[in-house]
Amino acid sequence: EKAKVSGNVETMKRIYQRLTSEDGSKDKGKKKVIQKSEMIEYYDVSGCYILRPWSYSIWEAIKSFFDGEIKKLGVENTYFPMFVSRAALEKEKTHIADFAPEVAWVTKCGKTDIAEPIAIRPTSETVMYPAYSRWIKSHRDLPLKLNQWCNVVRWEFKHPQPFLRTREFLWQEGHTAWANKKEAEEEVYTILELYARVYEELLAIPVVRGRKTAKETFAGADFTTTVESYISASGRGIQGATSHHLGQNFSKMFEIVYENPETQEKEFVYQNSWGLTTRTIGVMCMVHGDNKGLVLPPKVASVQVIIIPCGITANSTRGDNDNLISRCEILKSQLNGIGIKTKVDLRDNYSPGWKFNHWELKGVPIRIELGPRDVKNNQVVAVRRDTGDKIIIQNEKVCLETGDLLKQIQSDLFQRAKSEMDDHTAVSHDWGDFCLKLDQRKIIQAPFCGRVEFEESIKKDSARDNVAEEGQPAMGAKGLCIPFKQPKQLKPDTKCIHPNCLEIGKHYTLFGRSY
Ligand code: AMP
Repeated sequence: EKAKVSGNVETMKRIYQRLTSEDGSKDKGKKKVIQKSEMIEYYDVSGCYILRPWSYSIWEAIKSFFDGEIKKLGVENTYFPMFVSRAALEKEKTHIADFAPEVAWVTKCGKTDIAEPIAIRPTSETVMYPAYSRWIKSHRDLPLKLNQWCNVVRWEFKHPQPFLRTREFLWQEGHTAWANKKEAEEEVYTILELYARVYEELLAIPVVRGRKTAKETFAGADFTTTVESYISASGRGIQGATSHHLGQNFSKMFEIVYENPETQEKEFVYQNSWGLTTRTIGVMCMVHGDNKGLVLPPKVASVQVIIIPCGITANSTRGDNDNLISRCEILKSQLNGIGIKTKVDLRDNYSPGWKFNHWELKGVPIRIELGPRDVKNNQVVAVRRDTGDKIIIQNEKVCLETGDLLKQIQSDLFQRAKSEMDDHTAVSHDWGDFCLKLDQRKIIQAPFCGRVEFEESIKKDSARDNVAEEGQPAMGAKGLCIPFKQPKQLKPDTKCIHPNCLEIGKHYTLFGRSY
């Protein structure tokens, strides 16, 4: 059943329900795909989840790529404490105003109240910048480029969802300080492009690169850039990662200054911060998953090929079995030897059929079936997880063809997700049409004045009154971003999409239901 290709809404809804397991959903007791596939284990603190090795290895793949790329840019890794004092946290007023409702506080130690409660970092601007103020004295100390791989806590009140919205999540947060505003701004885009590559090259998920609207800009930033992706099973957009230019807002509050060598004057540094989280894994599950379970893009799969011996029967001789098993082992070594991550499932307490389902559920890109007849014919049968296609490969070509097949799967997954996104991205100049398209699970580029109050009106007025079916939210549309690549040039007199707004639209802005 290729739901994504056929665009069958009913199947999509089912897939969506099988993949997600929102706390409080009707069938809470039922195990969902992300649990059965050993990605996630539930935990008795709401909004917190155990990342099992199957999902953590995906995070490691992302980490390895991104860490390597930022090191090429001269970024160094560091580690700051997870606690932040109230005084530091509250220094940047707009920043804290936005984060305050989600900040978790430590107020007790044993039975004793702590005299001065300390907060757990929701992000580390206020943790790191007092030190930046001490470390930066001269222009020679700049640019300062630090990153940390850590956890943060945001006590979100919205529905927690595994990976997508959790109360504790893993991320990297980069914090850089610059003498030169232009160079700082350039870095914002360089990092955004790396985020786009994580999604597009590793996770095979297309993204829209753009700038956040005023309403959605990070608290305390001059501007926020973002990569947005689209989940067709729910018809919602999702913010993939963000790269912010903080201007001098924090440096003024934290007195991060250097002496300008030309004027000998003290000047405030320009700063950026940028973050990518374990949400990436959730987006991957939602975009590629199907009615059989996960579909892992080869580049992030910790097992790319699973070899399953088949056709062992009660009549098989010991010699036949040994021969088959040794053939499986040889094949595994050959594939591992050329860098293809391969395992053999030799468990004798499960049938081949059970194993097929198990590894399909876990999303392993290629299954190789090997039976006595294949051994005799010097061949293997490779089965693609994404399409179910069976391909017979001669032994001498196995390494080459499996490598090519993995590349093909990676590229096909991206193309499929891209067509799905393109088919559900529309342009609209009329409010009625906008709402109609939203209900067709589309994300819509519409002329927008950019004002916060009208973004709120768009959200309010595009919401549906009737109770949503599961997977089909009735929520209104949010401004996802102002795409860098505009669908076309806006004619000068084009009106803002909201019927009550009398101003002209400044840019095509991408709107959609969102997470
Ligand atoms: P921010 O620091 O608010 O710009 O967040 C950085 C990125 O973290 C966002 O672009 C989201 O992709 C992701 N994110 C935000 N909140 C959560 C959450 N509760 N769980 C997982 N990821 C999140």
